[in-house]
Amino acid sequence: MGVNRLATRVKKTKTLSKGCAVQALALLLPFVGAIAGRAGSVIGTVFMVVFVFVGWKMSTTWFCGACGKPIANKRVKDCPSCQVKFK
Ligand SMILES: [Zn+2]
Repeated sequence: MGVNRLATRVKKTKTLSKGCAVQALALLLPFVGAIAGRAGSVIGTVFMVVFVFVGWKMSTTWFCGACGKPIANKRVKDCPSCQVKFK
């Protein structure tokens, strides 16, 4: 078994995804909140930041550079499919 192989994690950002839709909706939140007044606008802005971050996480996926199978995140130490070690 070549367990000492090294590979890189490959990042892919999907442009048309659920994450992207979440981000688009998030950008509307401060305006929706503003209808309810200044406090609503502040709360809307806070939620916008949270949802943009969530959307960014959802639309960013990581793949194994050796076998191309998806991995959970960039902190994964080795590939569950081909057991390659990540740098
Ligand atoms: Zn792999």
